[in-house]
Formats: sequence, C-alpha cells, structure tokens
Amino acid sequence: MPVRVEIRAAFGSGVFRCKRCGTCCHHRRPQEFDDLVPPERMAEFLEKSNLIYLTEKDIDKISRRTGLEAEEFVDTLYEDKKGSVRVDEGAKRVILDLPVMKSREGDGACVFFRDGKGCTIYPVRPAACRLFPFVVVERSGPSGGIVLEIGYNPTCPGMGEGKEPDIRKLEKLVAGQFSERMETVGAQVQCLRMEGKIHPAARIYRTMPGKKDRSL
Ligand code: SF4
Ligand code: SF4
Repeated sequence: MPVRVEIRAAFGSGVFRCKRCGTCCHHRRPQEFDDLVPPERMAEFLEKSNLIYLTEKDIDKISRRTGLEAEEFVDTLYEDKKGSVRVDEGAKRVILDLPVMKSREGDGACVFFRDGKGCTIYPVRPAACRLFPFVVVERSGPSGGIVLEIGYNPTCPGMGEGKEPDIRKLEKLVAGQFSERMETVGAQVQCLRMEGKIHPAARIYRTMPGKKDRSL
C-alpha cells in the first residue's frame, strides 16, 4: 500500500532576507551527538546542525560542473559516496548513511566556499542549500504516513526580516528531495525489509559524517 506523504509548512510568519553572511556554508557538527544520531534526537540534531545533505542528483550535477569525483566533495561514514543503508546488531539497527557536503579542514566551511566570493558552484548548489534556512523534519503521520514538516534553522540571522518565502517553491524543493531519497535509500530499505533482513522493531539511525575529524 502506498505511504501517504504530507508536506506541511510549520514556521508561522517566517519572513526572511539573506544577509550573505556565509554562516550556512560553515557546517556545524554538534559535539553532543555521536557518529550515529538516534531517532528520538533527530529533530534536535537537525535544528542544531546545518549539514548539507546531498541527493544523487546533486552529486551528479556538481561532478559534471566541476569535473570532481564524488569523494572530493562528499562526506560519509562509509565508502559508498552516494550513501547507503546498513543493518547491524542482529537486524535491529538500520543505519542511513546519507551523504553530506564535505567541509574544509580548519574552519569547517564547505569545500566550495571561498572567502569574499561565497559559493563557487552557485548555479548547481544542492537542493538543501536552495532550501536553507528552511529545513525539513520528517515525522510519523496518521495511519503510518509521513509528514515532512518545513521549519527553519534559528541560527540564520536573516530570519525575521524581509519577505515571506514562496511556500509553493519550498514545497516543490522538499518534494523533489524526498522523492529522490525514496528512490535510492527508500528502495534499499524496502528491499532489505522484503528479504527479512530488518527486524520489525528495528530503530533507524542517521550518520553524522566527518565529526571525528573536527572540533566544530
Ligand atoms: S545563514 Fe542565512 S543569512 Fe547567512 S548566508 Fe545563510 S541563508 Fe543567508
Ligand atoms: S554548495 Fe555553495 S551554498 Fe551550499 S554550502 Fe557550499 S558554498 Fe554554501
């Protein structure tokens, strides 16, 4: 049976004007989280971190534009640079290794950020960058459905000034990101479930790539 997915804006009157401060291009990895983020702390983690999650389409577009291999700009805990699904602890733990944008050593800025210039891949920047400071939190919906709640990252200094965002545009970006993820990660989870490799009571974790290397 198809899963019902609802996209819901949950930020009241979220007026916004980008101040071009570059904060969102300096990626935070909150110290209190380990390499794997447990399900009950997922919403808190997303609020505190501003990691840029990449879809396969993002990775392909950036590779084509820059001529770089995925491993030069993608960060994951594992070797598969396009992200993957792992199961351990006797099938009771499902780990979603979702790839994020690599940060440069030292200041944690995105590898495509240049001081004084900003984003050097602006025309092909990932969907997550187009969406920011708006972010998505995935929640369980009624009857086993999924609610994609659009909130905002409170660390963006541009929030509270400017104009109302185009909700339709945000929803379209969120829907695109979600359907791409479902085509890849979702399909892998489904496959593992059908093969009986995931315990019915399994918990789903998300990785936090690159944390061990930095003090951000
Ligand atoms: S943190 Fe907010 S204001 Fe600063 S560059 Fe990013 S979107 Fe713009
Ligand atoms: S891709 Fe561009 S907009 Fe996105 S984090 Fe990197 S420098 Fe910033």
